Amino acid sequence: MKFGRLAGPGRLEVVERPEPTAGAGELVVAMAACGVCGTDLEKLRGNYQSAGVLGHEPVGRVKEVAPDVRDLRVGDRVFVHHHVPCYQCEVCARGDFTFCPSYAKTNLDPGGFSDAFRVPAEHVARGAVLVLDRSVDWATGALLEPAGCALTALHRVGLPKQATVFVLGLGPVGLLYARLARSLGAAWVGGTEVAPLRRTAAERGGIDVAVDPREEGAARREVDRATQGRGVDLAVVATGHPAVLRDATRLVRRGGTVNLFGLPDAGSRLDADLQDLYLRGVRLLPSYATTEPDIAEVHRRLVAGELQISDLVTHRLPLAELEEAFRRAGRPDTAVKVVVTGPAAAS
Ligand SMILES: [Zn+2]
Ligand SMILES: [Zn+2]
Repeated sequence: MKFGRLAGPGRLEVVERPEPTAGAGELVVAMAACGVCGTDLEKLRGNYQSAGVLGHEPVGRVKEVAPDVRDLRVGDRVFVHHHVPCYQCEVCARGDFTFCPSYAKTNLDPGGFSDAFRVPAEHVARGAVLVLDRSVDWATGALLEPAGCALTALHRVGLPKQATVFVLGLGPVGLLYARLARSLGAAWVGGTEVAPLRRTAAERGGIDVAVDPREEGAARREVDRATQGRGVDLAVVATGHPAVLRDATRLVRRGGTVNLFGLPDAGSRLDADLQDLYLRGVRLLPSYATTEPDIAEVHRRLVAGELQISDLVTHRLPLAELEEAFRRAGRPDTAVKVVVTGPAAAS
């Protein structure tokens, strides 16, 4: 079978390797679709201090089930979450599941950009496999993980009633965040984005206003207009650019929250006026990754028609064209979300 992986700094390759088989408690899933995430692009650039496994937004059809696995059958259409918490440590006991020390060590074998992948027993046992509703197509299913990350962040932040929200960076996750904030009842959602294609996608999805961050004072102007000069309840940093975090701290109201949501560049530093943050009571809250209940809630909202995100997928490319898929994903002027397709896509 085909498997896409990092071949070295800045290099991808699609190689042949034997198909995995299911051991006790495990599944093998034939991949139908797997999104290219911004963190995949960062791994290719060598800018993400994490294991080098690419592809973590997969959906597919169950191909093999170990005899001891109940509730799942060959042929089931599923989303599979690549990380699972232990549910036993102190961090998990406090509810900070994505910061569980073992969370990021778990993964699918060999990864999402693969004709088929093995789902380890710990994933199966801890609920990482979600059966997709018939109404959720493959490409939309591939958005469950990034949308789940946005929902986990919104839950960590705790969106107040009639909230005003400003998202800095309307790439795929920024757009998902903005649409979820809307779906959760935010009164006003605005944002910044360099690429016109993505600003259009934002406004099409019910975002009130999306401006170009290069336009001097535009973000401030829109926030002031929406909040009578008070600042927003929540500013979301959905890009890795460190300077954007400082901009975000200036757009929130007194007592407001800045959510550090996008993966920051490795080694980047916060350059902000700390006394200003102190005196205005600005909360700085990071959020990383997502949990099974949040992914299930995104799925429920999709099925109920409370959330529309399928238009965000602009490109579908077969696994054999993985390099091209990454190239397109790195072009914000022509792409929003790029999805890699596998052998189960036609089923
Ligand atoms: Zn991701
Ligand atoms: Zn844990």
